Amino acid sequence: MTRTNIPQLSKTRFMAGLQCLKRLYLESYHRELLPPVDASQQALFDSGNAVGVLARGVNPGGLLITEDYFNHDRAAARTRQAVADGSIPSIYEAAFTYDGIRTRVDILQRLNQDVFALAEVKSSTSVKQEHIPDSAVQVYVAEGSGIEIRNIYLVHIDRNYVFQGGEYALDKLFYREDVTAQVRSYMETSIISDLARIRDALAQDDTPAVDIGRQCTKPYECPFFSHCREGLPDHHVEQLPGARVALLDSLKSAGITDIASIFSGFPGLTRLQERVRESVVSGEAYVGRDLATELSGVEYPLRYLDFETFNPALPYYLGTRPYQVIPFQWSMHIQHADGRLEHREFLHEGPDDPRPAFISSLSDAAGNSGSIVTYSGYEETRLKQLAGDFPEYANSLLALVDRMYDLLKVIRAHYYHPAFHGSFSLKAVLPALVPELGYEDLEINDGSMASVAYAQMIHPATEEFERGRIYAALLAYCQRDTEAMVRVFGLLRSVPR
Ligand code: SF4
Repeated sequence: MTRTNIPQLSKTRFMAGLQCLKRLYLESYHRELLPPVDASQQALFDSGNAVGVLARGVNPGGLLITEDYFNHDRAAARTRQAVADGSIPSIYEAAFTYDGIRTRVDILQRLNQDVFALAEVKSSTSVKQEHIPDSAVQVYVAEGSGIEIRNIYLVHIDRNYVFQGGEYALDKLFYREDVTAQVRSYMETSIISDLARIRDALAQDDTPAVDIGRQCTKPYECPFFSHCREGLPDHHVEQLPGARVALLDSLKSAGITDIASIFSGFPGLTRLQERVRESVVSGEAYVGRDLATELSGVEYPLRYLDFETFNPALPYYLGTRPYQVIPFQWSMHIQHADGRLEHREFLHEGPDDPRPAFISSLSDAAGNSGSIVTYSGYEETRLKQLAGDFPEYANSLLALVDRMYDLLKVIRAHYYHPAFHGSFSLKAVLPALVPELGYEDLEINDGSMASVAYAQMIHPATEEFERGRIYAALLAYCQRDTEAMVRVFGLLRSVPR
């Protein structure tokens, strides 16, 4: 049995199908399985939209087709009128339907009366492989609708742009890359067969049988990631840290899906993966011989330090670049040799650049002695970046770097617990080692939520009450991170050798 009535395709569905036919099928017929869009994803969409709107200014004076997705036929009719009107230099959000596919084109630029250039706007800072079929399907539909396309461009953000204040200099903020040859080549070799494959999958009565794999996160994180993992072994082989495709393929060929079923000496396992395997098989934590020595290599008072940052696509502050990482908050727990614990913190509030106040408050709290305990090298990287951006503070910032002690590195090298499930992130380590302390009670409970919340807090349209709520939630989250480090460090020091 096959379905006779398959839904219309769109660029989004076409791209979903290229990533995974199961994803496309579920998105088309089982939308109830889609998880709700979270705040981080929404922020990403909003940022992409803002970039798209701004990029129209690269081809100014065009006509915007305002009809939305639900009024596609009217949008297509408006587009046909605009195409016929030679006085319109560009059409934004031009709508076309051909061969059962609907698409909207970001910018259709008129080169002469009947010939156009097509531009797809992306928030990325370079052309990516997946952008080629993404543009190609638009060209296929536009040309099928009778439009002659001479050039195809990818308009993306130029990472080297430096914001000078005022209006963005669009000719510098955006980079227009000619992808005509790549798109034409894909159209000649692959688009027809890809469309046939996609339509064939959609015509089936049953969901395509696709194993989980690399495609679940590449090029995009699939919304069915959790759904497709329901019922898998608790220690699925995918959890092996740094597992390469070749290893996963050979485990698959051997019929092994559970780490517990991997035999000792399985070819291709790294030392870390072998350690994970042993720990899962025995159900016991691995404790390296040198763990205690490594943990004693610190100097009191210990300062457990964590930063929160955000990296807007469109730069906010003078002298910053697109996607530049801007630290806006830190939390520090200070542990003295006698066990006394203090907490210090900083969170910038206003619309101005948070970095000067961030640096001065941090320098003050960090003192001149004692180890600065972090979880990963992220804080070190940020301090080095700040030292480059604010050379007047470089010496004091780099002096902090000299005192840093990376707890993640130590755990990764000397400790493993089966409940880590292959991850050494604090969010995975904490529940395994300190089950009574988690993040579930917090409104903000990961770094990307914190970034989104900060951008919302400083947005001029955000009301005072809402700002206060976000401010409190950010403080609670960052404080929890450093508290978690204190507890994890303490627990590891008490682990018997
Ligand atoms: S999670 Fe992976 S296998 Fe499942 S639909 Fe998405 S891409 Fe396909």
